[in-house]
Amino acid sequence: MRRMLFKSLVHGPLTEAPPVADEAALAELGAQVERLARQRLGRTLSIREVDAGSCNGCELEIHSLNNVLYDLERFGLRFVASPRHADVLMVTGPVTVNMKEALERTYHATPGPKWVVAVGDCALDGGVFAGSYACVGGVAAVLPVDLHIRGCPPSPIALLKGLLALLETVQTGGKVSVEAGRGS
Ligand code: SF4
Repeated sequence: MRRMLFKSLVHGPLTEAPPVADEAALAELGAQVERLARQRLGRTLSIREVDAGSCNGCELEIHSLNNVLYDLERFGLRFVASPRHADVLMVTGPVTVNMKEALERTYHATPGPKWVVAVGDCALDGGVFAGSYACVGGVAAVLPVDLHIRGCPPSPIALLKGLLALLETVQTGGKVSVEAGRGS
């Protein structure tokens, strides 16, 4: 015990330093998303998050959109508890066999117009879980996907850029694919 205490005093903390938030870029992106949502939908955007079988890495990034650093709600974007109140289904992970029906039911419970955003490499094609007996595949194997946000996991800024890209295509109904790395 004494050795452990000594070690913890000599060595610094083992956790990584938090990323530096580019507040100006974040504020601009958030404001753009809010403005486009009001223009295209006449209101702000409501998002229902569905974990269809992820490792939770993507969830950590999505959750951080609501933390004090990013504070997405200041731009009018809200995560809602029910698909009945959602415009966007944000789906993570490969779709597991056990979650397939729940995902389909969530989709059918969401009123139109609605959009499906597949978040992370696993949501695109199964990622590291591709080929597993427990997975059906990417989200597109179960639902019509309007937007893929790549990354393992995509950063909060990449998620915001993805939502912006989605809103920009709402009128044309086009499919978009946003490339995102951890640093973006
Ligand atoms: S994309 Fe990466 S972080 Fe997201 S669920 Fe798959 S393995 Fe986990």
